[in-house]
Amino acid sequence: PEKNEELFLFLDSGIYRFRSSNAIFIDPVRILNSSYTRFRVSPAAYYSRSFEHIKREETPLASPSSRKRKRKQSKSLPRNETEESAHQRHLAARPLLLRAHEALLGVKDLLSCLCDIKNDGRSSVESKELLPFVELGKVWQAPLYEMSLYFRPHDKQTEDGGMPLIQCGEREVVPIFNNLVVNKTSDDLEAEFHTRWYIIPRESCFYMSDLGQIHNLIPDQSDHGFNLIVIDPPWENKSAYQKSVYSVLPNRYFLSLPIKQLSHTEGALVALWITNREKLQVFVEKELFPIWGVRYVARLYWLKVKLDGSLIGDLDLFHHRPYECLLLGYSNVQEVASDHHSAFKRPQDNQVIISVPGDYSRKPPIGKLLLDYAPGPKPARCIELFARELFAGWTSWGNETLHFQDSRYFLNV
Ligand code: SAM
Repeated sequence: PEKNEELFLFLDSGIYRFRSSNAIFIDPVRILNSSYTRFRVSPAAYYSRSFEHIKREETPLASPSSRKRKRKQSKSLPRNETEESAHQRHLAARPLLLRAHEALLGVKDLLSCLCDIKNDGRSSVESKELLPFVELGKVWQAPLYEMSLYFRPHDKQTEDGGMPLIQCGEREVVPIFNNLVVNKTSDDLEAEFHTRWYIIPRESCFYMSDLGQIHNLIPDQSDHGFNLIVIDPPWENKSAYQKSVYSVLPNRYFLSLPIKQLSHTEGALVALWITNREKLQVFVEKELFPIWGVRYVARLYWLKVKLDGSLIGDLDLFHHRPYECLLLGYSNVQEVASDHHSAFKRPQDNQVIISVPGDYSRKPPIGKLLLDYAPGPKPARCIELFARELFAGWTSWGNETLHFQDSRYFLNV
């Protein structure tokens, strides 16, 4: 039957397309695994987040503090203009999200695959076990910090029974900060820094630096620019937890991101993650995209579910929506043809991508889903800005690009 065929495809690719709706379910772990040959992403480490239950309404008894009462009272006041447009935006998204969620709940085989996805014998990774790259990159010694890359010689794979393979490989020592580190090989590479190990996927590269150095990624030749640019900026946010996880930047810093210079001469698809703050949505539409020279084309939703398929929180909770948005636009593309004359497809508006979230603020790997919409020559040249991980064939830039590459997030095959 057709349904099982889709499930079969999902088990291999991590992507399940629902026929009945505009929704796609993805398993980030399966998608990420396609970047590696000798390693696997540990599902227990990826799916380690617990979702605290956020209640819809607090009864006065359950919330005795006067602050909470005040807030509750103010909810009953008429909405101001900004709150009203946020509400309208939510009402527009609501039916799409509900339909997508129903589609997921309707495929029992898929749900049963999710239940025991976490059991790989690993425990979750504690942040104190990981290196603080943002801080290390700021100290005066940062330019001196070096990383050792260990290349594995293919012809020696089974030699010297018992001897760690890595010792018979070649080693290359490179600066870890403000430097483009490249794995040109078609194999995973193990790299050592400060006694910790990192897994670098094939044909990937990273540049770990502060925003001030991003211009070093602008290609010398304009036809060496990128065809797909995924951006997840550190937007300012009230969440105290977020503040302790990574530093944020005021909006004006993003206006100067060199999106046009990073774009390929034949164009780039720009995918920007945004939060649900209404003011931010307006800033992106009215200021940021126009300054970048990006023409808006579509909006995608990321709907977050738990491993049992239920939403991570109430759909209508104002400050804790269980979804986020990804805005798509084109840079350096004059006309976006919607017919067959174009070499790339125009993205469908209102698609819903469903997945179980990983660590706080970690976005699902949507790169593969976007490749069809990237203009220019194939294979598309792809970059992620403000990245905390690497993908095979991609360039990653940010001040902690190796965060999720720590070997603690991986299992040996
Ligand atoms: N997309 C990432 C993921 O899925 O894991 C999360 C990105 S997070 C929203 C924003 C990132 O921007 C954080 O890693 C943060 O450290 C980084 N960042 C903040 N300020 C920066 C700066 N001035 N220069 C470079 N990166 C910065």
